[in-house]
Amino acid sequence: LFGNEEHKIVMVGLDNAGKTTILYQYLMNEVVHTSPTIGSNVEEVVWKNIHFIMWDLGGQQSLRAAWSTYYSNTEFVIVVIDSTDRERLAVTKEELYRMLAHEELSKAAVLIYANKQDLKGSMTAAEISKQLDLTSIKKHQWQIQSCCALTGEGLYQGLEWIVSQLK
Ligand code: GDP
Repeated sequence: LFGNEEHKIVMVGLDNAGKTTILYQYLMNEVVHTSPTIGSNVEEVVWKNIHFIMWDLGGQQSLRAAWSTYYSNTEFVIVVIDSTDRERLAVTKEELYRMLAHEELSKAAVLIYANKQDLKGSMTAAEISKQLDLTSIKKHQWQIQSCCALTGEGLYQGLEWIVSQLK
């Protein structure tokens, strides 16, 4: 991941899930190159030869059709979940399976961050895993990691898993 090869990670999640906070934790003390905004809910950030394409699943349906143009050569999908947001977990689930069915993501591995574990009433990783029916995913490597983006707890373990998946 930190060599000279380029890697592409697509990070998705509903608005307010914690994507920006997670990216900020990854990038701490690093110079970050941000592309001018590609679209209202799509951003690209480059860090150590890793291209992060980041977007909100909360975007209008009409915009989502265009997202697949960013899928090519994606090695990892990171799904960020606000573990306190029970009501919208179904939206994330729907979008997750829609993405995984896409041809260009057929080789992508999926890391799910069960974020905001510091908050009272947050769902555990096990609960989220069950709600998302993760065990039904057979064609992709996947991992769920609980975390707290505010402190960074758990984020590194997630990255370690990604590194372990690199061919
Ligand atoms: P994004 O819309 O997915 O990019 O979400 P942001 O990174 O902007 O985070 C949305 C809000 O949730 C902000 O107020 C963050 O400070 C807060 N937040 C993010 N991660 C955590 C976390 O792990 N715990 C708590 N308590 N708040 C968090």
